[in-house]
Amino acid sequence: MTRKPMIAANWKMHKTIKEAKAFMAEFLPKVAGMKHTDILICPPFPLIAAVNDSREGTDILLGAQNMYFEEKGAFTGEVAPAMLKELGCDCVILGHSERRWVFGETNELINKKVKSALEHDLIPVLCVGEKLEEREAEQTDQVLLHQLEKALEGVEESYIANIIIAYEPVWAIGTGKNATAEDAEKAISLIREYIHSKYGTDSSDKIRILYGGSVKPANIGEYMKLETVDGALVGGASLEPASFAALMEF
Ligand code: PEP
Repeated sequence: MTRKPMIAANWKMHKTIKEAKAFMAEFLPKVAGMKHTDILICPPFPLIAAVNDSREGTDILLGAQNMYFEEKGAFTGEVAPAMLKELGCDCVILGHSERRWVFGETNELINKKVKSALEHDLIPVLCVGEKLEEREAEQTDQVLLHQLEKALEGVEESYIANIIIAYEPVWAIGTGKNATAEDAEKAISLIREYIHSKYGTDSSDKIRILYGGSVKPANIGEYMKLETVDGALVGGASLEPASFAALMEF
């Protein structure tokens, strides 16, 4: 089974509209005609429309970094799935460790968001990953399986193959300390085996699982040469057009 790789940018809370437009103007010519990988850009909410305009006529995918699960209502400060769809989003990052550990998102909330995204035809980029103390206590497998089980609870089997999972060890995000290729392979194989045991071969063959955590042009090759790794979710190195474009040359 060959899965199309994906290299995804998580801009976090960076850039203005002007800077996003300048990024796109410089980035697009660098990746023009590239077909070997999907490219996903997830800007902060206020920049989504500008990035959507700039990507017109390209195959670049567009995503948000979060959403709420309800349709509408008295949820001050939140953004609904239909609003993201209307802006042109294809995907939405859910369960990012910064949402879990800075903003207190629980597995239960993330599960509601995953189901809501799928119902609104948004592909969830579901992040799972262990904290440093959990790794040191040899609880990595247990933590990953628990996060996965909870996040996917009640999701219809027919949706599973479309979801994108990102294995993002919390200790590797924005720290410059990337997981070894062996660590990433082990965790991603565990995730794929879980999908296989619960949803069968078709889902586990098709689902894309990315690695995220201090990926940069100098180390992306280590991950992309692994059969089970389907791409990368990238924060810091996605902010400059040259380094983000260099990540496509794996
Ligand atoms: C991320 O934001 O998901 C991430 C992996 O960040 P960084 O690449 O900066 O570690």
